[in-house]
Amino acid sequence: MRVSNKLKEKIIKFFDNLFHDSRTNNDNKYMEKSTEFDDWLINNNYIKNISNDNSLINLVPTQKLLFLNFNNCENLINDFIIQFSNYENMTTFSILKKRFEFYYDKLRDNFGKILQEENQIFICPYCQRNYIGIFNNKDATKGYTAPDLDHFYLKSKYPFLAVTISNLIPSCLVCNQRIKGTKDTYEKSIPNPLEENIFEKIEFDFNYIEFNNDKLPYINSIYISNMKDLDDNYKEYIKFFKIQEQYSLHSEIPKNIKRKFDKYNIVKKNHLKKCCSSLNDKIIEDMVFQEYKYIDKKTTPLWKLKQDIYKKMKNETT
Ligand SMILES: [Zn+2]
Repeated sequence: MRVSNKLKEKIIKFFDNLFHDSRTNNDNKYMEKSTEFDDWLINNNYIKNISNDNSLINLVPTQKLLFLNFNNCENLINDFIIQFSNYENMTTFSILKKRFEFYYDKLRDNFGKILQEENQIFICPYCQRNYIGIFNNKDATKGYTAPDLDHFYLKSKYPFLAVTISNLIPSCLVCNQRIKGTKDTYEKSIPNPLEENIFEKIEFDFNYIEFNNDKLPYINSIYISNMKDLDDNYKEYIKFFKIQEQYSLHSEIPKNIKRKFDKYNIVKKNHLKKCCSSLNDKIIEDMVFQEYKYIDKKTTPLWKLKQDIYKKMKNETT
């Protein structure tokens, strides 16, 4: 996700206060050191603080780490792996993990909602199929209900990116918990859908079945028609997030569009035009197919499937 300058200031202040309070209360439970990793964090070029802010020394996440741009997340992981090829077996790794989990819990509890609201993400970026959104609960003590906040690069393997906001993606439960789980996007070079318009590149199509002299879209017949032309990392993405499988469930989309084309055929259009002289083909088409012709990609689940199927059927009827 992205973050506004105004919110950045609040987050910085929050972590400064957190550190200050812990010193005042002598509460150092999350300040346990993991020397090798801390040295790496302090000296790493991507996140080293050049300002007079000494929070690195105090082991609070630095501004650079919190607001690291997404491309540098991958660079940071590369560097980490070169330095610590055997990190998962190092005893101090669990200390590093614990500390960043603590920071992440604080970030999520205090800023999770506002970050998601600022980013105006209404459908799951991974599948672009399910709605996600935040709503306040009736019982105010129960706060609000929000979608999963996924770490694009796993926080269990790369805990130092647990609080990096560009590494956070609000997502649906299916993509986050059922499909992605603990699979590693770094190892598989999966692209980030908030950084790249992956679905713009994917093309969907479907097959008809002959039934009583009629052509109908048949169940589970949706497929990605340009698979072989896609870049390898897009192919990996499709495999990783089971896009083919998720989209094949939606044969209701071609069925609904086909129904509209059948209903508003040339006879019906001519009839309408006769009844009302101000109507023409374009106006009728705009009225009937508005939701497919003028798709709002940010708020319409399955927008790419709807767009592609509409175009295909339109070509077939003209
Ligand atoms: Zn999803």
